[in-house]
Amino acid sequence: MRAKNLYNRYLVLVNASHPYLEEKVRLLPVCPGEPDILLEEQAQRQLSLLMEEIGGWEGIVPVSGWRSRKEQQEIFDTSIRESGEEFTRKFVALPGCSEHQTGLAIDLALKKAEVDFICPDFPRSGICQRFRERAAAYGFIERYRREKESVTGISEEPWHFRYVGAPHAEFMERRGICLEEYWGMGCGDVQK
Ligand SMILES: [Zn+2]
Repeated sequence: MRAKNLYNRYLVLVNASHPYLEEKVRLLPVCPGEPDILLEEQAQRQLSLLMEEIGGWEGIVPVSGWRSRKEQQEIFDTSIRESGEEFTRKFVALPGCSEHQTGLAIDLALKKAEVDFICPDFPRSGICQRFRERAAAYGFIERYRREKESVTGISEEPWHFRYVGAPHAEFMERRGICLEEYWGMGCGDVQK
């Protein structure tokens, strides 16, 4: 039997071949003290619960959440100017094609004096790894993995997490598949 929700907006696929169609979403500050870093409300709620469980905000800082298309264009242009085309194409999505425009993606960094905006440090140890291990239970996936670079078209980004909803995140985690592959399988249709 097919699942009822064939299309779930939390599963929206945004990449170089699937530009984001602007949709009105309700945005909330990702955490107290960061009024300018916003996430879609459901994603924000789940991230807050996850951070609460692991005491995450003590050691992790948010770097970038929702972006307008214009902001994405500015980030892209600045990166081209400062870091060159090769670097930019690896780590910065084309304007109009960034998951950050959905409000469902968040870049996180280990709390320290210097945080890199494009490639934040989010190591596979300590509090960051703890976050990673609990992420799927709250609906987040580590979106750009090294072994999926040829599928996603984006280099490994250990700092970029995407909200898709818990059953989907857990399924993808268990099967070791990325969002493009999940779509290829019919996502909403997949029997859990
Ligand atoms: Zn990101």
